[in-house]
Amino acid sequence: KGSDGKYTVTLIEGDGIGPEIAQSVKDIYSAANVPIKWEPVDVTPRLKDGKTVIPDEAIASVQKNYVALKGPLATPVGKGHVSLNLTLRRTFNLFANVRPCKSIVGYKTPYDGVDTVLIRENTEGEYSGIEHVVVDGVVQSIKLITREACERVLRFAFQYAQDVGRTKVRAVHKATIMKMSDGLFLSIARELSKEYPNIEFDAELLDNTCLKMVTDPTPYNDKVLVMPNLYGDILSDMCAGLIGGLGLTPSGNIGDECSIFEAVHGSAPDIAGKGLANPTALLLSSIMMLQHMGLNEHADQIQKAIFKTIAEGKTITGDLGGKAKTHEYADAVIKAL
Ligand code: NAD
Repeated sequence: KGSDGKYTVTLIEGDGIGPEIAQSVKDIYSAANVPIKWEPVDVTPRLKDGKTVIPDEAIASVQKNYVALKGPLATPVGKGHVSLNLTLRRTFNLFANVRPCKSIVGYKTPYDGVDTVLIRENTEGEYSGIEHVVVDGVVQSIKLITREACERVLRFAFQYAQDVGRTKVRAVHKATIMKMSDGLFLSIARELSKEYPNIEFDAELLDNTCLKMVTDPTPYNDKVLVMPNLYGDILSDMCAGLIGGLGLTPSGNIGDECSIFEAVHGSAPDIAGKGLANPTALLLSSIMMLQHMGLNEHADQIQKAIFKTIAEGKTITGDLGGKAKTHEYADAVIKAL
């Protein structure tokens, strides 16, 4: 927080529709007098000692501000490019991916009243990247699970539940098959649950969770679900589908020190530069950021204005069935503030 009473936040506008949707966030935030000063940084990869890296200034900015809002980054097609998203995750040790999935009134899907939260372990498990050919035609991929990473994400899940007033944490696993790896995850979850007596803890097999969720997601409404990497990757997109797809889904990547909040969707090159993008997912990610920073009043005010604008259905973007341009939608949210 600076002497002017404002918090500096790193802004990675990103590629494609990134700058357009970031503009909506900036406009709405200045209209709502949110005490935030944006520090825009460029994360276009540079070549350093033969490797593509994120510019040092961008890393320094996030390290200084602790919090960043990020638009989508296009992953260059072709060999040898590490995904920038993965690089950011590794650089800042963003160990937990948080995805709230809440039905949006005014955007009808086959499911009503969904309101669940998924927390995915973000650093290891099936995505450790340890793969090799044993002999021709036989490939081994190693799922690495450590006590340290399990404990970190599980503790975060319990703490998160407590902070947002949810009373139940459920671990999602396949410890029946992956007895040792998921078994470790599950046993640490049970151990830790004792430290949180106010929170009810239980566990469920992943296949069972999928079946039950697509049948009726509402029993998951009071819960925080926490799970290893691959399960979280798949289940969180399934949950996004329940509420209307990736265009509306926010997320937060939480690290030891720094956290980066971002929309779940990509850079939408097919509509970039045309003023057609829906900024809601990035806006809702910024709301998660405000809550993370303890700026709850501003978060509530802007969130209400967003939901009101969508529920009215008069000024919504094409992906939601409307005709509004990105800036017209943002103006409607500003009027609703
Ligand atoms: P995408 O999410 O960019 O687009 C999928 C479809 O959804 C497109 O038709 C697009 O127009 C639409 N869409 C997405 N966001 C929208 C929005 N806010 N408003 C309206 N419509 C929206 O997925 P893709 O086409 O597979 O990926 C494009 C690029 O984005 C790729 O380079 C990919 O690597 C990258 N990507 C980045 C991230 C990230 O930075 N977190 C995530 C996914 C994809």
